[in-house]
Parts: sequence; C-alpha cells; structure tokens
Amino acid sequence: MTYENIKIHPAVDGGVHPGRSGFAGGTLRCKCATDPVEVQVGAQTAHNHVCGCTKCWKPEGAIFSQVAVVGRDAVSVTKNAHKLKVVDPSATIQRHACTGCGTHMYGRIENTGHPFYGLDFVHTELSDADGWSEPQFAAFVSSVIESGVDPSRMDGIRGRLKELGLEPYDALSPPLMDAIATHIAKSTGALAA
Ligand SMILES: [Zn+2]
Ligand SMILES: [Zn+2]
Repeated sequence: MTYENIKIHPAVDGGVHPGRSGFAGGTLRCKCATDPVEVQVGAQTAHNHVCGCTKCWKPEGAIFSQVAVVGRDAVSVTKNAHKLKVVDPSATIQRHACTGCGTHMYGRIENTGHPFYGLDFVHTELSDADGWSEPQFAAFVSSVIESGVDPSRMDGIRGRLKELGLEPYDALSPPLMDAIATHIAKSTGALAA
C-alpha cells in the first residue's frame, strides 16, 4: 500500500531531500512580489521537522509546516525589517511575520528560562539555497485536526509520514521532549544542575 497521493508539505511530497554537510546558511525571503523581507541565516539548521500545530506558518494549501531551529546569533534581518510584526506577543515563540504577505520569517523565544532559549525557529523553504538540513520527523501530528483536517484522514497521513521516513509524533520527538523535561528537572532540583 502506498500513500503517495497524500500531500504533507511541498518540500517533502516528492521525497525528503537530504541536507549537505558543510552547508553554512542562506537568505530567507518572504512572498511579497516587491520589497520582500530578507533574513540572513548564517549557519546550518538543526532539528528540522514537519509540524502539524496551528501556530506554525504553512505555505498555501499545506497541512503541515516545515520548521527548523538555528542559534539566534546566526539570524539577522537584512531587508525591509519595517514590514515585520510579532503575530502574538503573548505566545512563547514570538513569530515575526511579514505584514505584507503573512509569511513568518523567524520565531524567537525571549524567555531566558525556556528550554529552547537561544534558538530561533525558521522555515528554510523560504531560501533558494540548496543544502539545508532535511526534516527528520513529524511533530504535533494529531493537531492537524484542529486546523480542519477530517479525523478519518489520519491513518493515511500517518502512513504517508512513515513512508517518507518522518516518524509521526503527537508532541515533539522523544529527544526534544527529553531535553525539555531535563531542563525542567534541573530548574526544579529533581535532577542535579
Ligand atoms: Zn512579505
Ligand atoms: Zn508548529
């Protein structure tokens, strides 16, 4: 049985394209036809994955986003910064979106106590450079129902994700969930810091 007709995200629907070792970053560009926002990412990304949550930016028609992290020091807005606005200032991840086209250019955590503080969230499909780290798993898969996907489609969606080598999880992947729990345990004293 194959699920190849089930669309996940344009970057993986034709198969996962491997990243390149030694790749050192590129420029993300929003979808505006004129005066696009540009964000320079000066490093390779990590933990790239497809995400089914309702907060991540998705390209037109996609039911998953594709999102990776990179050190915040490697991220800088190089063009049309005035077009950016934080989508939800109360959210943990401050998603800086283009007010012209709605594309999220980077997400940043300002809470220094957060397990992922220091990492920015970026959508590398916004760059035409080739070599970004490839997606490795699928996060928050059940959450696609919250954006209107019929629950009867979930077997097919999970089947397609497995076929693509993107293990489906309904939260983050076990290594990331463990990293969060370890951070919390060290801050509460349950584990030695
Ligand atoms: Zn734009
Ligand atoms: Zn998400």
